[in-house]
Amino acid sequence: MRNTIAIVGGGFCGTVLAANLLRSPPAAATDIVLIERGGEMGRGVAYAERDYPYLLNVPAVRLSADSGDPLQFLRFAQRHMPHADAEDFLPRALYGDYLQDVLLRAERTAPAQTRLKRIFGEVLRITRRGEDNRLAAQFADRPPIAADRVILALGNPPPPPLPWAAAVGEHSAIRQDPWDLPKTLGLQHSVLIVGNGLTMVDIASALCLDENGAPQLHTISRRGLIPQPQTTFRATGVRGDHAAFLACADSIRRVLVMARSLAREVENSGGDWREAVTFIRHLAPSLWRRLPLPEQRRFVRHLQAHWDTHRHRIPPAMGERIASLRRSGKLRVNAGRIESIVAQGEQLRVTWRPRGGAPQTLTVDLVVNATGPDYVVKRSTDPLLSSLLAAGLVCADALHLGLRAGPYGACVDAQGRASDRLYYLGPMLRAEHWEATAATELRDHAERLAAHLAGLTSSSQA
Ligand SMILES: Cc1cc2nc3c(=O)[nH]c(=O)nc-3n(C[C@H](O)[C@H](O)[C@H](O)COP(=O)(O)OP(=O)(O)OC[C@H]3O[C@@H](n4cnc5c(N)ncnc54)[C@H](O)[C@@H]3O)c2cc1C
Repeated sequence: MRNTIAIVGGGFCGTVLAANLLRSPPAAATDIVLIERGGEMGRGVAYAERDYPYLLNVPAVRLSADSGDPLQFLRFAQRHMPHADAEDFLPRALYGDYLQDVLLRAERTAPAQTRLKRIFGEVLRITRRGEDNRLAAQFADRPPIAADRVILALGNPPPPPLPWAAAVGEHSAIRQDPWDLPKTLGLQHSVLIVGNGLTMVDIASALCLDENGAPQLHTISRRGLIPQPQTTFRATGVRGDHAAFLACADSIRRVLVMARSLAREVENSGGDWREAVTFIRHLAPSLWRRLPLPEQRRFVRHLQAHWDTHRHRIPPAMGERIASLRRSGKLRVNAGRIESIVAQGEQLRVTWRPRGGAPQTLTVDLVVNATGPDYVVKRSTDPLLSSLLAAGLVCADALHLGLRAGPYGACVDAQGRASDRLYYLGPMLRAEHWEATAATELRDHAERLAAHLAGLTSSSQA
């Protein structure tokens, strides 16, 4: 019988994992079944083709999907955009084209006994087969697929519904999906974007392509912090003291003191604080694992928003665009809390309270939910995720950051046992590693998991 590895989700993680398995396959004859509910492999939410040319937030030279070939993406980009430079922030849709090419090339060079099967459909449940202990991916409209291993590469959960929006029901001025924006907004309209992170920047840039004819934009988040812009800093500029940092990992306050002092040191010697952030980011998984749970909780409550705005930055052009919109008053960034939203004909009246201030009201034509992924998986309405939780095959971590995972992303079940058949790969690994959001971190996880699966399936067939 052939070995079967089923990968549920053909976005970034699923595609990179499949490509790795095709390049370095298990010794035994293997089918790699890549299952995607959308229309294309290799794109997912981030690298989809959209009306607006959203940009990558990392220079081309640092975005290879293959750690052994760091210039791979740059070479691909230069074949399509001959003037593309190593430090350019290129379109995200081009990165999706690249991921498709990566998969295609890996498929062509795979040995004959390793086959890639692309399946388009939505997996609704994963069940255990009694007869042979394998797993089965269940669909609504096609026969199940039996597999020796199943890897969940489902991507980010959608944002939580805006709680105040329930009062206005299905009002057409509420957009829960930040990528579904009306094309008819102009100078006479106003928009409230809930959230001040990377999605807010995407929305503001898309709505203000023509600044003079753009709607008035308001944003709101608790702290009003927006992402910092990228620069051409040297990513390997800082050689900090790993051991000293790790020695502080009993207290998040001590880590913060060290991080601030490192950033000051770098700046005082003519460098860029981003070099210090890059150094800490590489150390983050080790730091995270050493932090006691109450200290991790303290980080999430008090520091995460600050870390995110310094760690997940925006391309310089976007930084300039946002600064210009703020200068002209077209974009008003607010810190505060929404108290209520009520319908007023086709518009919405929003009452919000600035930090430490009295309530204010705002009447807008559109409210967009840009609050980011909802990692509280127990309230997920996704059929697959909720069925996995209900069956006890996966479980949430104590801080609601994602899913518990063992070595190589092995799913931890409701009894705390790491599975040797079911794995998770994607941003919810942050529960274990903290840094598991950006493409290169997920690529590294995909490479480790592929090597592990290749070894496992070989030995289990021996
Ligand atoms: C908007 C955005 C922009 C980003 N930009 C950058 C960037 O510039 N640089 C960077 O380093 N990182 C960036 N990231 C971060 C990172 O690259 C992505 O989060 C990464 O693409 C995550 O990959 P994934 O495979 O987990 O999710 P996705 O790529 O979203 O793929 C998940 C796939 O699973 C499918 N799926 C889900 N459930 C099922 C099911 N039940 N059955 C079948 N298929 C299913 C979905 O349709 C989807 O295609 C960005 C992230 C986002 C959201």
